[in-house]
Amino acid sequence: MPERVAVDPAPTTGAGRGSVGERPGDARLLAGWGRTSPTIARVLEPDSAAAVDAPLSGERRGCIARGLGRSYGDAAQCAGGVVLDTRRLDAIGEIDAETGVVDVGAGVSLDRLLRVGLRDGWFIPVSPGTRQVSIGGAIAADVHGKNHHRDGSFCRHVSSITLHTPGGVHEVGPEADPELFWATAGGMGLTGVVTSARVAMRRVESAWMRVDTEQHGDIDSLMTALERVDASHRYSVAWVDCSASGRQLGRGILDAADHAAASEVTGRRAARLLRPPPERALSVPPIVPRWAINPLTVAAFNEAWFRKSPSRPGHLRHLSGFFHPLDALANWNVVFGRRGFLQYQFAVDDAHRELVPRTLELLQRARCPVTISVLKRFGPGDPGPLSFPIPGWTLALDLPVGPPALRDTLRGLDEAVASAGGRVYLAKDARLGRDMFQAMYPRLSEFQAVCRRVDPEGVLTSDLARRLGICEDSSS
Ligand SMILES: Cc1cc2nc3c(=O)[nH]c(=O)nc-3n(C[C@H](O)[C@H](O)[C@H](O)COP(=O)(O)OP(=O)(O)OC[C@H]3O[C@@H](n4cnc5c(N)ncnc54)[C@H](O)[C@@H]3O)c2cc1C
Repeated sequence: MPERVAVDPAPTTGAGRGSVGERPGDARLLAGWGRTSPTIARVLEPDSAAAVDAPLSGERRGCIARGLGRSYGDAAQCAGGVVLDTRRLDAIGEIDAETGVVDVGAGVSLDRLLRVGLRDGWFIPVSPGTRQVSIGGAIAADVHGKNHHRDGSFCRHVSSITLHTPGGVHEVGPEADPELFWATAGGMGLTGVVTSARVAMRRVESAWMRVDTEQHGDIDSLMTALERVDASHRYSVAWVDCSASGRQLGRGILDAADHAAASEVTGRRAARLLRPPPERALSVPPIVPRWAINPLTVAAFNEAWFRKSPSRPGHLRHLSGFFHPLDALANWNVVFGRRGFLQYQFAVDDAHRELVPRTLELLQRARCPVTISVLKRFGPGDPGPLSFPIPGWTLALDLPVGPPALRDTLRGLDEAVASAGGRVYLAKDARLGRDMFQAMYPRLSEFQAVCRRVDPEGVLTSDLARRLGICEDSSS
């Protein structure tokens, strides 16, 4: 049994240092961003790639990598086992001035990479809705951004990965062992620990985005507009007012954007063309009472948000405001109190677009308030067997835990999504059942075959993997 248990209140604050081999690691209570199902594991902080190997070869109670803890559920937890906190694998190499290719440690955050790159006019190729994601976490979830319809997910921009597995170290890429590479992309850490990767950055002339904002009064109009901007803009995203009902069901705000050229940035902005994102974020005191988040307060907020965002073509917005508005508040996840919150994110193809308005109706009927909702387009799917994107639509909904009907409503939605050939995103999941998971990810046995090859003893596991039986042979 561990001697000392320390709670990790915010996933980004560190535990004791000390490299693997020198110290056994602290027992810590770890949770995901939604703070719903914390468990205790021994946390080790390897300070070099080589230091990852000892726990991988000797750990009998399971082992999993952890980045910045921004997955919502239990993906970066391993109850009773070892969690490898990768934040000390933090080297960033020179960015190739011609190609933008850079070697980065798995523990480097997208925030840091972006700051380093921006000085010379390079931006990260795919950005999730927060910069506080590690390179290892971006690869393990094969994260997508607002440009999936144009550029695919993160691993399409990765040319090689150093992967430490119980069976040895592998240098993999789309050409060198594509099977292991694509299983690692979206494999939620279950094929090994990524220690570094080679990533291609995107050339930009400024840190500013040219944004076309459009207000749409109902879901049909919003979705049609999102489809339209697939062809005209690299980035697109819509905020949906999940409180609006009747003829206004699914009204929302579309932002379609491209990087602004240097010549478009004038006045005071031109003086700091490559201005980095703000260093500091505000901190939220965890004092919001539980009753404060209910359908009425959320509807009032949504009404105000909808009104304050009239249609406005071609305005400039700093990239931090466009890509990462939530990063302005460091720990906004604490406002949901001790019970935490879930994010339900699913993807369906174009033929099943009606699942988007149906989901909004079902949650309204069940009186489950949605605090944040994001609707995006997906382009062609990515090659990984556990890849999340399906060409078509993805809707992500933040849902405070509490409403009595929440569990059954989400279970009903799982069934609707699965029978539409869609799936729920593992990086956001904290509650899916095994039956639904297997229905949603039909290439699971392909993934498991790769896991057996690199980890025959089944050392790599996580709370997510145990809950969903990801590594348990589903073919037998
Ligand atoms: C506000 C917010 C917005 C978000 N927006 C998006 C979005 O737009 N698109 C999107 O795709 N995702 C989004 N996410 C989810 C997030 O990008 C993913 O969950 C990502 O994996 C988190 O990275 P992390 O470093 O925090 O990893 P963790 O949460 O610590 O771990 C996530 C998974 O990665 C594995 N992992 C971590 N490091 C390594 C490593 N070195 N080697 C092997 N496996 C590793 C873990 O085992 C775990 O399975 C968002 C999350 C938040 C909180």
